[in-house]
Amino acid sequence: FDDDSGAYLKVVTNDHVAYRYETLETLGRGSFGQVVRARDHKTGNIVALKIIRNRKRFHHQAAVEVKILDALRRKDPANDNNVVHMIDFFTFRNHLCIVFELLGINLYDLTKRNNFQGFNLQLIRKFAISILKCLKLLRREGIIHCDLKPENILLRSKGHSAIKVVDFGSSCYENQKVYTYIQSRFYRSPEVILGIPYGLPIDMFSLGCVVAELHTGYPLFPGENEVEQLNCIMEVNGVPPKHILDQATRRRVFFDSKGNPRSLTNSKGKRRVPGSRQLEAALKSDDKNFLDFVARCIEWDAERRMTPEEAMQHPWISERAVEARFRQPGDVTTRFSPTAGVPVVPPPAPSTK
Ligand code: ADP
Ligand code: MG
Repeated sequence: FDDDSGAYLKVVTNDHVAYRYETLETLGRGSFGQVVRARDHKTGNIVALKIIRNRKRFHHQAAVEVKILDALRRKDPANDNNVVHMIDFFTFRNHLCIVFELLGINLYDLTKRNNFQGFNLQLIRKFAISILKCLKLLRREGIIHCDLKPENILLRSKGHSAIKVVDFGSSCYENQKVYTYIQSRFYRSPEVILGIPYGLPIDMFSLGCVVAELHTGYPLFPGENEVEQLNCIMEVNGVPPKHILDQATRRRVFFDSKGNPRSLTNSKGKRRVPGSRQLEAALKSDDKNFLDFVARCIEWDAERRMTPEEAMQHPWISERAVEARFRQPGDVTTRFSPTAGVPVVPPPAPSTK
């Protein structure tokens, strides 16, 4: 192995990492480094190996990821809360490496494979319940995920609709926050955008965005930049209440001295007017429970947003979960159809930080 100038570990197929993990295929690559499918020659198992770039910033971030994953596996020894299982970690040639159980495709790629047509609400409810189970555990431990989005939710390799949450590389303890500007843009909560102290509710905001996108196949709030991002939220939610704006240290970025939103025209010539987009239209659904569930995740006021425990009791989750046993196939808007291959306009590429 030779480190290239970008401080990535150069991985060649069938090479060995730490004289133990034979690299088979790249699963993901990003600024942090890469994730490869690998065979553990000590156990014979196939695993996912996250190899972090040999750069201080990424190394530090990954060390936090290891610390949080380690705490979570101690608190959840049976690993039944849908958090990816960290098998091991080690340093090899100055690269921090994390060994994970191998999972399947991420939900962004799954949506893409479905021509961005979205999934039926029954399947999305299953995903939501699994994510909420993870968020309940995180809440008990005081951990914020900070980067909940479809790419960080993976199908289990064998399960059909079972999923796990990955990528704790931006996570933090609620009482040990380091960064003020976090989350991927489309899923970023108003308090992070506006510069208001944030906490666990930022993950619930992201969850609302995620379930909406899984249904429509398109991000709920696809801002091209942070100003448009807040405009997207205002388009659905109206302008933020005064007590929220009063706390916003970054208010001037988004509002003029009279308190009017700075409007802008995006690359498609679209100007977003606060309050002009009904949630029903945005979600392409008339299921009242689903609309209410999303509305209660994307509240401006973090204190009014549902907690994961409350969300588990929400009618969209609880009533239907019981009712589902009596449901006939086709009762729910069935939008998942792998053969309906009419390509739609592809959504914007997933936003980076
Ligand atoms: P990053 O911090 O760069 O986003 P992630 O941990 O999210 O890193 O991993 C990047 C991608 O690699 C994921 O979106 C997923 O597609 C793939 N991946 C990550 N972990 C696993 C795993 N345990 N099994 C299979 N694929 C994985
Ligand atoms: Mg990720």
